[in-house]
Amino acid sequence: MTEWNKLEQKGLTVLEALEAAGHEAFFVGGYVRDKLLGKPVKDIDIATSALPDEVVGLFKKTIPTGLKHGTVTVMQEGEPFEVTTYRTESGYEDFRRPSEVQFISELEEDLRRRDFTINAMAMDRHGLIRDPFGGRDDLQRGVLRCVGQAEDRFQEDALRMMRCVRFASTYALQVDPATWEAVLLRKELLRHVAMERVRVELDRMLAGGHPYRGIKLLLDSGLLTCTKEALNWTYTGMTEEEAPAGLSVLDRLEAPLHRWMLLMLLVSLDPDEARQLMRGLTFSVKDMERIAKVLEISRWVRAHCEAEWPHTVEEVPACSLEDAWKLAVLRYGKEAGLDWLSIEEGLHSEGIGRASCVPELLRHGAGWLQAMPAAGLKELALAGQDLIRQAGRPAGPWVSRTMAALLKLAALGRVANVQADLLACAAELEKEGGTQ
Ligand code: ATP
Ligand code: MG
Repeated sequence: MTEWNKLEQKGLTVLEALEAAGHEAFFVGGYVRDKLLGKPVKDIDIATSALPDEVVGLFKKTIPTGLKHGTVTVMQEGEPFEVTTYRTESGYEDFRRPSEVQFISELEEDLRRRDFTINAMAMDRHGLIRDPFGGRDDLQRGVLRCVGQAEDRFQEDALRMMRCVRFASTYALQVDPATWEAVLLRKELLRHVAMERVRVELDRMLAGGHPYRGIKLLLDSGLLTCTKEALNWTYTGMTEEEAPAGLSVLDRLEAPLHRWMLLMLLVSLDPDEARQLMRGLTFSVKDMERIAKVLEISRWVRAHCEAEWPHTVEEVPACSLEDAWKLAVLRYGKEAGLDWLSIEEGLHSEGIGRASCVPELLRHGAGWLQAMPAAGLKELALAGQDLIRQAGRPAGPWVSRTMAALLKLAALGRVANVQADLLACAAELEKEGGTQ
């Protein structure tokens, strides 16, 4: 007897109501796959022979999510269930979406339109599985295989090639040879897919359990060179032997954003190139900047932390690695500093040293960063107004210049972050004419 949790029990109520009205209804798709794998259930999709109007008529609360495509969301005791009428699809003129859907009465035909055998199973309300394409067998063998002729299926909808890599990666599956061959043959069609959809698949792949596997599949297939907007996704700054080891660190980093950062570090060291790549992928500005800042801090470390001390960094005589690191944190922010440390930590644990100062920064960087008396103007114990009052001069660009200079000195601990000390220091600077 199948054990059902609360969500499933509510779903069963939906199946029962549809059946009581003389229709067929099954749990389908990702739910069945994850259930068979013993994975936690996120949501449940339902397929039914009932027409959308009939579904709407049967339940108290429904939302017409995609009536044209046959999808009605049924609210059952506060939970949403997407209930979709059995359908076939045709006329994929844009290599992405069907131009026509037709409602049908056969479950098997509905399962046939689905992408992979593991996604083309149905379960009835007794827990019995309908599996006309051998999805359960494939799951057991760890194989990802298209329903029907793979080449045709990718030609119909090119996004399926990205889904292929994503499922193979997150579920650690081997792509069936015929399916993989079809990816290689059809990869050029990826240019018909919106970049946003490509990013969503990459996001899911990178957030999953085996991102390294996914990236390897992408690089092996050359899929990423076929996107609508060029991704220029090449290795720079690493030898060929190093690149795979660096990529394997993807699996060690927990935060998906850190995985993106590592990827960008490994494939493109220039922050502006990375920004362009991320813009192409329709990243949010917030994520894009957080990632780019890490590339910037990485470049800074290479440029400023390898030198003989003392030397001048950002107009400040820096006496040590500690000084240079604090100035970097000041410039790019604490978050970027900590992000960068997490990534270098991962690389370091694989024995990949990217700069000679990294071990010391890994030992002390976080401590130095936390101990900074001020890491931004807001944390400085002095406001521009105080400065203007003391100097008796009108406001002007000199104020922000002096503030920036004071912040650097306070961050490095050369002056106490106390108003009186900062004002005295400002007067000194004024005398020297350094901030005129
Ligand atoms: P997850 O939600 O974990 O990403 P899922 O399998 O539920 O996985 P969805 O995108 O939610 O994926 O789609 C639900 C089902 O719809 C899939 O299991 C599959 O049967 C079918 N499906 C989704 N997208 C496609 C597609 N592009 N081509 C063919 N069938 C698809
Ligand atoms: Mg789903």
